[in-house]
Amino acid sequence: MRLFSVCTLIAVISPGIVSSQREAKADLVITNIATVDTQGGATETRTVVIRGGTIDAVLAPGAAAPDAATTIDGRGKFLIPGLWDMHVHLATSPEPQFAERIMLPLFLAHGVVGVRDMGGPLERLLALRDRVSKGTLDGPRIITPGPFLDGAGDPDSMFMRATTADDARAAVRELSKAGVDFVKVQANLARDPYDAAIQEARARNLSVAGHVPVFLPVSHIVASGQRTIEHISPALVGDAGLLFACSRREDELREELMAIERERAKTPADQIRARESRLRAELVGSVDPEKAAALGRSLKEHRTWMVPTLIWSNSFRPLQQADTGADLPLDFIPATMRKRLVDNRARYLKSAAPEALTAGADTASVASKAVGVLHAAGAPILAGTDTYDGFVVPGFSLHQELQLLAAAGLSPLEVLQAATRNGALLRNAIDREGTVARGKRADLVILDADPLLDARNLFRIHAVVLNGRPLNRTALDGLLESVRTAAR
Ligand SMILES: [Zn+2]
Repeated sequence: MRLFSVCTLIAVISPGIVSSQREAKADLVITNIATVDTQGGATETRTVVIRGGTIDAVLAPGAAAPDAATTIDGRGKFLIPGLWDMHVHLATSPEPQFAERIMLPLFLAHGVVGVRDMGGPLERLLALRDRVSKGTLDGPRIITPGPFLDGAGDPDSMFMRATTADDARAAVRELSKAGVDFVKVQANLARDPYDAAIQEARARNLSVAGHVPVFLPVSHIVASGQRTIEHISPALVGDAGLLFACSRREDELREELMAIERERAKTPADQIRARESRLRAELVGSVDPEKAAALGRSLKEHRTWMVPTLIWSNSFRPLQQADTGADLPLDFIPATMRKRLVDNRARYLKSAAPEALTAGADTASVASKAVGVLHAAGAPILAGTDTYDGFVVPGFSLHQELQLLAAAGLSPLEVLQAATRNGALLRNAIDREGTVARGKRADLVILDADPLLDARNLFRIHAVVLNGRPLNRTALDGLLESVRTAAR
């Protein structure tokens, strides 16, 4: 209160100080750029003034731009809010400094200014998040749940295990105290601990996001107020909660899914694998557009976001003989991992029966069609990749996911929204992020071509603005080179 009165006093008695502050040099001015409205899809030529990490003014053409430490000529370029990858894992790799040396620079170089981590070791994740927010580590902003909240299993620093409601409440209390941003639920959580986690999280003002637990139908998840549902493809059947709810045989196939889970420990692995592929085929063969549309309407009504992570499931196994991974930027993958991935893929392609490849391709195609139907019915959608996992390269894979969303039927504007505005809506941050407007955070991407004409243009990055600081193409290429060196 006292501070407020002093400031008011200064403003009253010495207007000169205030107006000279207003005229002070800007940090960054981007002149005459086509700003893209992520809400309605219009573009307008504007000059954008940035001070202290915030968009301070958006000026009409002809208005005098203030002096700036850096000025970028925006003619012929397009300005969008920075991208968010809404499903990543920053700390699941055993490689030391993997996030710092590989993932974070790759994200920035691909226009990713924010990531929603989806699970890993608590301390490591909180440290990464806090170093970035304090400015001692360069990278996209991070939100994280810390460890996965899951059912019974081996002790592991990436998991909190809850088999009873009390366990779940204690786990959520502990996570809340540690300062996580939300709670991530995983596939093996039973109904009682799931319900208890939802209640405890609500009491502590934390949202819940994650998988559809195998023992629960999607309808229960949606009614419980879980904010996002991850994955759609049954590349791993236990991850396909959304797709089960699109099947005309939902109840029967979920019975088999639960039976497999119950019998997993006491059944030979090859028998489990055979049952899982049978189940996958039956699920893929029974997806019903009417049922998918009904699910889409329900997701819309409850504001439950889907994060299909199509690129993860499409990268899980090759979908055709030509799919060797050679078209990926393999030099961004650390040498040890690269060799393992390339060798595994070559071995699979050599031994896979043609039917297995066809089944994989069918699965991908059905998952894509289901996303199209869900989206057309109004299901809110977010772009996420599940990087780092296999051939899902950080940053690069977000652009692959955006292409897959376009192929599933999203318009270029809807694709752009899935990676910008929608994440801000989910995080209740739309007043500060997700559009190019005065008062918003200056986390931006400058593109060489119009993303509303073709979502592929989101990949044509001229510069990134991170918290008001410009990273031009040379700086971005420098980041890529640093990753190549670290990966060698
Ligand atoms: Zn994940």
